[in-house]
Amino acid sequence: MKIYIVGIGLIGGSMALDIQALDSDAVIIGIDSNEKHLQQALDLGIVHQTAALSEIEAADFVIVSVPVDVALEIIPKILDTIADETLVFEVGSTKNPICKIVNNHSKRSNFLATHPIAGTEFSGPNAAVRNLFLDKTNIICEVEKTSFKLQEKGLKLFKDLGMRIRYMEPKSHDKHIAYVSHLSHISAFMLGKTVIEKEKDEKDIFDMAGSGFESTVRLAKSSPAMWTPIFKQNKEQVIESLNEYIANLSRFKNLLELEDYEQIFNEMQSTNRVKEILNGKLIQQ
Ligand code: NAP
Repeated sequence: MKIYIVGIGLIGGSMALDIQALDSDAVIIGIDSNEKHLQQALDLGIVHQTAALSEIEAADFVIVSVPVDVALEIIPKILDTIADETLVFEVGSTKNPICKIVNNHSKRSNFLATHPIAGTEFSGPNAAVRNLFLDKTNIICEVEKTSFKLQEKGLKLFKDLGMRIRYMEPKSHDKHIAYVSHLSHISAFMLGKTVIEKEKDEKDIFDMAGSGFESTVRLAKSSPAMWTPIFKQNKEQVIESLNEYIANLSRFKNLLELEDYEQIFNEMQSTNRVKEILNGKLIQQ
């Protein structure tokens, strides 16, 4: 089995490691615009070979794991090149723009739009880890537009990686993900910014911040190159989620100014419900 991975970073690299463990005969071929990443992927044994985008004709799978703006550019070109039996799937964090762009492509039935809800704040092949996808959800959009045979091929791979499948419409995916993922990242970035700006005056703040700050701000270590195009593509949904978040922040500030501690207590107590929700492991990234 020949698997080409375009974008051999955290997600592509982690898939490569798991696929190698599942099938020792699989040949993993890395394609990346970053020569350093390609060399690292070879050195770490994440890929067996490297190739150029024009060389994917003989692929069984093409996994596209590049930033979402790059995906819009290269997926139509990849679909132009592949054989009839090849399944191309991409893993980007937005789904509506990519589904729109491939909609009328003659090889649309060779394409599957997915979003594995798995990840970390790190990027590049050095960040790739085994079992990243185990027990995680993979959201698949417009599955009916992929040929039945290739759907089966993709679903088998996701099952072997240990993933649960959830089907969603692309617009619905982008709306939900704006709240549970995109807003969380903005919140972490702006929390980090607020504290860093304050630190100019109060050098001790990091010593006092403790693990609460560290865990809340974790996502602010994420790559701006990956996140800027995500916010651009999902701008409207992200703005809507920000409006609601800012309203909640303002309400909390207002309650504090009014010294309404009973209501502050109630707000926090009702939000404690997040414990039960997350025990059902909803969405992480
Ligand atoms: P990553 O670690 O930065 O890997 C992406 C790789 O693609 C990098 O090596 C990057 O090189 C390369 N690349 C950029 N432009 C390219 C091009 N034109 N042709 C070929 N390669 C190119 O990113 P990632 O975290 O794996 O994310 C990949 C995709 O997965 C994104 O669409 C993201 O939305 C999605 N995703 C991410 C997560 C997460 O938690 N990270 C979770 C689920 C889905 P440079 O570094 O030089 O740009």
